[in-house]
Amino acid sequence: MNFKIIGGGVAGLASALAVSNAGGHAVVYEKAANFEPVGAGLQLGPNASGALRKLGAWDAVLPFTYAPPEIHMRDGRSGKLLKRLPLGTSFEQQYGMPYLSAHRADLHKALNNVASTQPRIKIHTNSEIDELSLGSFDAIIAADGVRSKTREKLFPGSTAVTTKDLYFRSLLPMPSKEADVNLECVNLWLYPGGHVVHYPVGSPVQLNLIAITTGDEPKIFFKNASKNLQSVLALPSEFSKWQSAYIPQLNQWHQGNITLIGDAAHGTLPYLAQGAAMALEDAALLQGELKSNAKTAFENLSTKRLFRTRKLHQSSMRAGQIYHSSGATALLRNAALTLAPAALIQKQLNWIYSYKI
Ligand SMILES: Cc1cc2nc3c(=O)[nH]c(=O)nc-3n(C[C@H](O)[C@H](O)[C@H](O)COP(=O)(O)OP(=O)(O)OC[C@H]3O[C@@H](n4cnc5c(N)ncnc54)[C@H](O)[C@@H]3O)c2cc1C
Repeated sequence: MNFKIIGGGVAGLASALAVSNAGGHAVVYEKAANFEPVGAGLQLGPNASGALRKLGAWDAVLPFTYAPPEIHMRDGRSGKLLKRLPLGTSFEQQYGMPYLSAHRADLHKALNNVASTQPRIKIHTNSEIDELSLGSFDAIIAADGVRSKTREKLFPGSTAVTTKDLYFRSLLPMPSKEADVNLECVNLWLYPGGHVVHYPVGSPVQLNLIAITTGDEPKIFFKNASKNLQSVLALPSEFSKWQSAYIPQLNQWHQGNITLIGDAAHGTLPYLAQGAAMALEDAALLQGELKSNAKTAFENLSTKRLFRTRKLHQSSMRAGQIYHSSGATALLRNAALTLAPAALIQKQLNWIYSYKI
């Protein structure tokens, strides 16, 4: 079977690998003129690592990854460390794959490197697709991102919803040390109305920092933050700014021989750091379904993935509310985090990380 893939992001390239691994042919059309190293850091939980292995891209991605030893949850007002969640060997033993971080551009480059060696995959950059004709193809996989034009054509009214949150992102040379903060770890700072996440990525290692605010620049928004958070926020010399968006929940992702995949199908808020992971899971599952004809494979993809991606969407929204709470709610949250054993907190996320395809 011949597949036309719209979009050459993580979902598009992973889908091309899925098609090729299943014995089909894929042509990827990417509107960008070149695969420039865009984006910043992302976290790859064991579910993402497992999907990469299934797609045959794990060995190519691994050299570009970083293994943070723990997640540190902190209160951004007091600076207090509320909880340490171990990630290292015990985490890997539990889930069978490690928890890693990577630069999005490195993940993308590794997928592109693997796809480029596959004779049944062709990739065309500078190729924007604006109509949904099959032409000589048997089926279309639309991996055109959260603002997917394909989705709007297939499901009118499904335009992406922008929220008031802004993401300020920066990548900077890894500082040698920062008082009282372990920069080797994933650090999550909770603050009324916003939060800050930072962790190392890449090789050579850089510090990836994201500050989520309701509009103001981080240094203004977090003006009442603890000294240690303020000194972390003083590290970047500049931020790039992104508008937060998610898509309305769909009841299905396909129509006949056309399917959505990745962010185009279920783009959500990034508060559980699962955007790329969900796209990789979609593609790995599609790979197994492609033993059927495209229409059946797309039906099965949508049916098998809807519940999980919806649950992730709802959980990401809920996580944002918890991270951003204030007053008595924040005090209760902090008390619960301090008292609860790390294993109990990890158990709440088990359904995300233990997913096997
Ligand atoms: C530039 C960029 C940087 C990002 N950086 C981060 C990050 O740092 N951290 C993080 O967690 N997530 C990041 N994301 C989001 C993350 O990559 C996605 O959540 C996840 O990887 C799923 O990706 P996707 O392929 O579904 O969508 P996307 O990554 O959005 O990819 C969609 C692709 O489709 C292309 N496209 C769109 N319309 C057309 C068309 N009509 N014809 C042809 N091509 C088209 C786009 O140019 C893009 O390359 C980024 C996304 C983008 C686009």
